[in-house]
Amino acid sequence: MLIFLRPDADSAARERVIALLRSEGIRALHREIGGYPLVEAPSAADPLRDRIAALPGVERIETGLAVYRLAEGRAPEGENGRGIRAGSAVFGNGSFAVIAGPCAVEGREVLLEIAAAVRAAGAGMLRGGAFKPRTSPYSFPGLGEEGLRALREASDRTGLPVVTEVMDAREIPLVSRHADMLQVGSRNMQNFTLLAELGRQPKPVLLKRGMAATLTELLAAAEYVLAGGNRQVVLCERGVRTFGDETRNTLDLAAVPALRTMTHLPVIVDPSHATGRAELVRPLARAAAAAGADGVMVEVHVRPEESLCDARQAILPAELEALVCECQSIRSLLRSGASLLTEA
Ligand code: PEP
Ligand code: MN
Repeated sequence: MLIFLRPDADSAARERVIALLRSEGIRALHREIGGYPLVEAPSAADPLRDRIAALPGVERIETGLAVYRLAEGRAPEGENGRGIRAGSAVFGNGSFAVIAGPCAVEGREVLLEIAAAVRAAGAGMLRGGAFKPRTSPYSFPGLGEEGLRALREASDRTGLPVVTEVMDAREIPLVSRHADMLQVGSRNMQNFTLLAELGRQPKPVLLKRGMAATLTELLAAAEYVLAGGNRQVVLCERGVRTFGDETRNTLDLAAVPALRTMTHLPVIVDPSHATGRAELVRPLARAAAAAGADGVMVEVHVRPEESLCDARQAILPAELEALVCECQSIRSLLRSGASLLTEA
């Protein structure tokens, strides 16, 4: 059992909770996390719940496995989250963010070419991996620091802020020198050391859902960052593993409205890794906009066939341009629909 005390609860309130538990022969530990004093009593049973809840200073009691509290809370009506900024890109608060770029930074020249093309197509943020989590150690692992420098240059030239993956807590200082937003990949969603460290630095974090993670686990992972003091977290649905093999993963679009009822954090969708197929990216980006997502992240390449990584899912800049227009139209349709409903 976890007993959260109000942030202003004094040590006397904490001691009363501990004394009650000890009088029942239950071991209790206390600590603070995310600004909340917390008493942990692993063996406390449910019948004690009401007695503890009645003590002054007790805010809430949790018994579940994956607990989160800072990530909790519905976004205010009419708004999608509270708005998180990464350079000029805005996530939530009614905006629709479009992140686009190659799977991996393959070289300076080609990145500059892609960056200019995605900017012209209407994207608001550039993506590209410099440190790539590859299933096989023999696959292209990214250009590392050279890739980061290319991303920074592409960002400076186009004015697009840049998001890139950080795979290891030791690489945070290096990656954050070049990036405006730090991405945690699906495979690292439960790398708790990395998450906790990201909580102690100021750059916004794009947290991708683990391919076998529940939404509660995703929010508990976000909580590690939030509890460290960094409240700038954007969630990304990127498909989960199912029995189907027609697509790389199965896009869980229900996650978008479901997360809306669970958290105030903005939610975007990555239809590229969800499907692995370029021809499915645009229809699913439209669906994400219709489901109320705060944006999309898509892989784009000027010559997909030359792509060193995820070539089959890369769309062309012209396709991105159509995608941006369609998503914006869907969003304005929803907005006008909402105001018609409000007026009625
Ligand atoms: C990526 O976005 O570069 C990526 C590797 O995606 P994921 O972590 O969702 O597989
Ligand atoms: Mn990729």
